[in-house]
Amino acid sequence: MQGESAFAYIALYSVLVCRKHGCAIYGLDEHLKRHHHMSAAERRALLAAYKDCNVLPPAEVTQPMPCSAPIDELGPAQDAFLCSSSSGGGGGSAACGFISTSRAKMQQHVNQQHHTKLTRWSSPTATLYRDHAAQLWRPVKVQTFFRKRRYICYFIVQEEEQEEQQQGEEQGEQQGREQGGQHESERQGGYQQRLALLSSTLGALKREDSKAIDRMAAEASAKDRTGWFKRTQ
Ligand SMILES: [Zn+2]
Ligand SMILES: [Zn+2]
Repeated sequence: MQGESAFAYIALYSVLVCRKHGCAIYGLDEHLKRHHHMSAAERRALLAAYKDCNVLPPAEVTQPMPCSAPIDELGPAQDAFLCSSSSGGGGGSAACGFISTSRAKMQQHVNQQHHTKLTRWSSPTATLYRDHAAQLWRPVKVQTFFRKRRYICYFIVQEEEQEEQQQGEEQGEQQGREQGGQHESERQGGYQQRLALLSSTLGALKREDSKAIDRMAAEASAKDRTGWFKRTQ
């Protein structure tokens, strides 16, 4: 079922976001036809629901301020790299600001734009490469309103703190359960993230039953707060 709740109009940026696809859309009818397999009647109802919204073309949408809170409707933030160089050329000190989700593209960027060669180091796992790379770019979390290649424009979002993230996702999971089917995929997304987080802390238990991991993580942190964890180590 795909009702109005599958979309969200964000007035601040004048974008209509499809929650299912985690991106802003321009041209709702076309998007519904191509990606949602809806009947004509369903499409008409949705078009009517959003006909008064001012939806801007991709090129006119303004980006959120760097390090704003992530926009939930766009799905989980992606890992990316931010160029640390200044834009250079004539001694300017403005930040370059180039962002890419691809390490290879970032490497190409610094080679071409900042004339910094990283290729002489043998492999990306070499310590020297890592140290050098750390000065050239840094990891960031990003989102983009649009996912069509030519309209992709990444903006940096705040990284959620682990504790908040866990709590938020637990609440999200409960809500998901109550609301049922439609949010299944979103719920899975949050679940996967949390599982990844937990498995990094509880590496040995990576393949155990997820509920057991939840329980043990909760217990471990509760006990840690009371000092139990330290005493028994
Ligand atoms: Zn969609
Ligand atoms: Zn750059």
